[in-house]
Amino acid sequence: MDSVGVGGAPLIGYGEASMPPYLGESVASVTGFLSRVDASRLSDPFAIDAIHAYLDSLAPGNMAAKAAIDIALHDLTGKIMGQPWHRIWGIDERKAPSTSYTISNDSPGVLEQKIAESEPYKVIKVKMGVPGDRELIETIRRHTDRPICVDVNQGWKTPEEALENILWLADRGVIFVEQPLDKRDMEGHAWLKERSPIPIVADEAVQTSADVPALARAYDGINIKLMKCTGMREAWKMVTLARALDMKVMVGCMTETSCAITAASQFSPAVDFADLDGSLLIANDRFKGMEVVKGKIT
Ligand code: MG
Repeated sequence: MDSVGVGGAPLIGYGEASMPPYLGESVASVTGFLSRVDASRLSDPFAIDAIHAYLDSLAPGNMAAKAAIDIALHDLTGKIMGQPWHRIWGIDERKAPSTSYTISNDSPGVLEQKIAESEPYKVIKVKMGVPGDRELIETIRRHTDRPICVDVNQGWKTPEEALENILWLADRGVIFVEQPLDKRDMEGHAWLKERSPIPIVADEAVQTSADVPALARAYDGINIKLMKCTGMREAWKMVTLARALDMKVMVGCMTETSCAITAASQFSPAVDFADLDGSLLIANDRFKGMEVVKGKIT
């Protein structure tokens, strides 16, 4: 996306789509969608709501493809205004949280090395609902008492099983649990929310702002991801809506370069937890943007 800046210098807005297979988008579907977009409809990059309405009129879904355009529009309008979006939104960048660092199960030597590498990060993330998960928590606890957050990815079968696990985890300094049960099990999550000593955060159960009001009864918080929700415009609506409903807010990511991670980091000072390690885990990052300095988003 391009425009002309002060003094006639060209300005370019960059966007990115990331397509994890389980969300049903692919390079072919994204390029197919983008090829249908009439560029003349994007001539006013500030008309972001109208552009989203136009994109939605082309086809439903295609969230990552729409996010790519949305991120480029925000990048371009930020450059035209000469300000990063966290300043345009009026949020205090000093409040940016530390990002969590994911540790998965591995052979004892490698695991110890990973725990040592995670030292700059204030929060460790562990995926549970997989074989050896409790042992992994115990191993991490033998090396560090830093807070841990847990992502179950819908892996526990019943609310009772989930509660037993959550009580065990809370005793070991776990600060919140993401998506413990099947995303369709609203009653199970509501039962769990009433009993859990630590927050229950929706991930697979939440996509856009339209989902948020109904989730307030069953979850303490939501995990916002640009590739799920169509980008920064929708993400910011979700932040403000969740806050109005007294919910916690987390920002997550897919495997993304610093382009999309920098976009997500713009509203990170307004959230409680950040899981923005996507660009730290890839070897071919083509962009420079946000950086993680001593674990903190900068
Ligand atoms: Mg998750």
